[in-house]
Amino acid sequence: MKSLIDKLEREHLLTHTEFIRLLENRTPELDEYLFERARNVRLRHYGRDVYVRGLIEFTSYCKNDCYYCGLRRSNAHAQRYRLTPEEILDCCDAGYALGFRTFVLQGGEDPYYTDEKLCALVWAVKKRYPDCAVTLSAGEKNREGYQAYFDAGADRYLLRHETANATHYGKLHPADLSLQNRQRCLWDLKDIGYQVGCGFMVGSPYQSAACVADDLLFLHAFNPHMVGIGPFIPHHNTPFAAQPAGSLELTLFLLGIIRLMLPKVLLPATTALGTIHPLGREKGILAGANVVMPNLSPRDVRGKYLLYDNKICTGDEAAECRACLAQRMQSIGYQVVTHRGDYPVTSNPTN
Ligand code: SAH
Ligand code: SF4
Repeated sequence: MKSLIDKLEREHLLTHTEFIRLLENRTPELDEYLFERARNVRLRHYGRDVYVRGLIEFTSYCKNDCYYCGLRRSNAHAQRYRLTPEEILDCCDAGYALGFRTFVLQGGEDPYYTDEKLCALVWAVKKRYPDCAVTLSAGEKNREGYQAYFDAGADRYLLRHETANATHYGKLHPADLSLQNRQRCLWDLKDIGYQVGCGFMVGSPYQSAACVADDLLFLHAFNPHMVGIGPFIPHHNTPFAAQPAGSLELTLFLLGIIRLMLPKVLLPATTALGTIHPLGREKGILAGANVVMPNLSPRDVRGKYLLYDNKICTGDEAAECRACLAQRMQSIGYQVVTHRGDYPVTSNPTN
């Protein structure tokens, strides 16, 4: 198996069959071998720097009904809120003072936030903070919408592909959501000129090793700037309430694999990873991740943006989250840096 890891590091790709073999033959020893290789690649490109993005969860309304998500429209128990542009700008003010130079505006697909309103919002943030990057994560839109946000100043867009296997996609979503449209969105975003993040949940219901191999091949084909992966965690008011969570071990293994496959990719150690294990994010960094996304949402709404159960940091202020993460990174010998943290631009993406 180590020879497969060596091949992945050398060639940045394995076949579908080889990926499955690697995934099905994990051992603690192989994990350590992979993490060391992945850490070395990460150190080569990013040193011990950890990039931060301030996450602002601006609306908990969603018109979609993804089976895994606590914000799905059929969850009548979900507490819905939306922040006003003024409240969002207040979050940015607080974040800027704490050193954040990237703001991620994430939310459900909320019809209240029309293209016009989202453009005005992006414009307002960029006007106040021209030195900051604005990232949107607001779901599936048509190309004109994505173009309009880009023209208003949005720099990046996060839209996880969720799964690259069409049958699996159909088991996670109702029939009105399709893998084709999800991927159409991602290609449009890239074509428009965004720095784009895709990704998937690890251990989502019905996910097989073959599905994960499909995801990895999709990542290779799409070649995103960022890849967000985190464990699936059940939410008690969804159809997947009784499904098991994804594992820490597989998530870390995949972080390592993705670092070897896309050496310079921006790879967050996610909140979901920190939720399934108290040291999940530290372990994620040590497996090859290089980004953390502390929460900048106002404290009174944090407990309402619940994609899954037991989410961490719902009681903290932005400053506490920022300080806590800085300390956690320091404890493993890494340091949080406060520039925008763009994807490194060079002529050869795999060097
Ligand atoms: N509405 C937007 C952004 C918010 S959801 C969208 O769907 O793209 C952001 C991400 O949270 C989703 O892409 C999904 O991968 C993740 N997520 C949703 N429910 C989850 C759960 N139960 N466990 C882990 N991650 C989840
Ligand atoms: Fe809505 Fe996103 Fe949750 Fe799906 S994952 S229900 S689109 S918030």
